[in-house]
Amino acid sequence: MVLARPLQALETEALGTESLATLEKPAAWTVRDSEALYRMEGWGEPYFSINQAGHVTVSPHGDRGGCVDLYELVQDLQRRGLRLPLLIRFSDILADRIERLNACFARAIARYNYAGVYRGVYPVKVNQQRHLVEEVVEYGKPYQFGLEAGSKPELLIALSLLRTPGALLICNGYKDAEFIETALLSRRLGQNPIIVIEQLEEVALVIAAARKLGIAPVVGVRAKLNTKASGHWEDSAGERAKFGLRLWEILAVWERLQEAGMGDALQLLHFHIGSQVSSIGAIKDAIREAAQIYTELVRLGAPMGYLDVGGGLAVDYDGSKTNFAASKNYSMQNYAYDVVAGIKDACTQKRVPVPTIVSESGRAIASHQSVLVFEVLGSGAMTREPLPAPAADDPLPIANLYETLASLTPATYQECYHDAEQFRDEAIAAFGLGYLSLLQRVKAERLYGECCDRILAIARQQDYVPDDLEDLEKAATVSYYANFSVFQSLPDSWAIDQLFPMVPIHRLDEEPTVRATLADLTCDSDGRIDRFIDLKDVKPYLELHPLRAGESYYIGVFLNGAYQEILGDLHNLFGDTDAVHIQVNPDGYKVEHAIAGDAMADVLRYVQYDRQAMVESIRRATEQALQQKQMTIEEARRLVETYERCLSGYTYLQSENQ
Ligand SMILES: *Cc1c(COP(=O)(O)O)cnc(C)c1O
Repeated sequence: MVLARPLQALETEALGTESLATLEKPAAWTVRDSEALYRMEGWGEPYFSINQAGHVTVSPHGDRGGCVDLYELVQDLQRRGLRLPLLIRFSDILADRIERLNACFARAIARYNYAGVYRGVYPVKVNQQRHLVEEVVEYGKPYQFGLEAGSKPELLIALSLLRTPGALLICNGYKDAEFIETALLSRRLGQNPIIVIEQLEEVALVIAAARKLGIAPVVGVRAKLNTKASGHWEDSAGERAKFGLRLWEILAVWERLQEAGMGDALQLLHFHIGSQVSSIGAIKDAIREAAQIYTELVRLGAPMGYLDVGGGLAVDYDGSKTNFAASKNYSMQNYAYDVVAGIKDACTQKRVPVPTIVSESGRAIASHQSVLVFEVLGSGAMTREPLPAPAADDPLPIANLYETLASLTPATYQECYHDAEQFRDEAIAAFGLGYLSLLQRVKAERLYGECCDRILAIARQQDYVPDDLEDLEKAATVSYYANFSVFQSLPDSWAIDQLFPMVPIHRLDEEPTVRATLADLTCDSDGRIDRFIDLKDVKPYLELHPLRAGESYYIGVFLNGAYQEILGDLHNLFGDTDAVHIQVNPDGYKVEHAIAGDAMADVLRYVQYDRQAMVESIRRATEQALQQKQMTIEEARRLVETYERCLSGYTYLQSENQ
């Protein structure tokens, strides 16, 4: 493997310095360069930035005050006993997202003179962690922000946490009688559950439960729209979608409710065309289609009153502001404008009163507040031996490699690359035939490596790099070994190739000279990250700094607060990471909650191992070894103690630097 090296280092080498003299030394690296390289402004605004010390900073309220140095925060948290990898949740960012979404709708409602209101709900499935849902409810109170439950356990969560008068409790997903009865009974607690029919059969269940309990239901219908969003969640809409009713089924729901004397129950129309809808065009089309269905239902006599536009509001993970899957070509404000305008247009056209607008944005609310910080444990970077001097008895391939190295200039580098490859191949072939000694082969490879380093340095200075040099760039990419599990902490990176912005959280005033990919702790070749955000498409490497002996190197993964925690799995039995909730105030910060990650005994219990039995089995084995005099008493004690300590310990590696 060839290590990318800074140009300055090359100039001290004995050979080829005159040809390198033509290369200009780049201007000193600044934090602005890092900001541009990692595209911080694109995806991080207004929350994440870099300070003069070269550290990432977090400003939950944008420029309205309060800012923490993420690197120093991580050091502080480690001093408090929290361990890496560490998930840091910034509660104020969550508050800001909720505030922002409501402000965008308020502005849109004012701009279009919309005669109705907005009542958002947070879909619990996006991140069910109790502290987080509690915060959503609390920060949402001024806006009567409600919750959406997609399953029975989520309904139970919502019922236990939602205490906001006037907020909605939208019940989606497949339902049984128990689900429906629980939802209906919660009306008596002052909740506003709306039972959204996803399957025609559910109407009968709702009617039966309402009769049995004597509680009038409020019912919604989920429409299968024709409009599809492109991308991963494309099949959430259209005829073959897993959820939702075809138009004739919606009419059948309306008829059955009327027949049961519950016609006034039908009050909401819902749709959800998928998550991360990156194109505003698809959103506008869906709104237009749904608004027409809504107005037609009103004209048929259904009471209605709510139009629920589902989720889909996207997050710009790569900051490119395009309709690329990791991005979106619209702002939250554009989204609100288009939702409000689209609904108003249809209602004006059909002369029906405008509905209360409901949206179920999850990703857009929960993504920004979480930052995962992990440490790099080491790298696969090769350290180069000093360049050997030419010898009188160098065989031809080696002599040729010396010559190639000497003739290397920006004008000849492409040709030199092909020459170097050829001479390296010749050296290997000669070794196979017994004409080269082992030491000579090593020398040939060292020279070839040197050629590659210098060719790459020249190539990177050019505006255009010929295609045939791409292999060289690929070979120069170094693996950084990261103390975390992709499967536990960033499952969508593995499952659906989702991109998350990643940035070293310190040393950003230094040029990152290594092009790296990340390899995680699992024994799985899929446990790596080799796709990174870029302005156009994706980058096959992340620019990182050379590791320094005895010094920790921290990388932050941003925008991962939606879906990642709950989809994460125990591959190789790496468990939940430690997590903290941080509140930023003008004088610093406060640790609101600290949640210890899984201990080894916890994850082992999921797979039916019993701590006591495991320790006992080890104790018995040591006893036997003692009897057979294969072990000393001290060794036995040490083994049992270490074993027990591991069971109580973190599933991740404990770095020497921590
Ligand atoms: C998943 C889901 C959402 C949340 O979607 P986001 O794109 O994360 O906003 C909303 N509504 C329903 C019905 C869902 O299934």
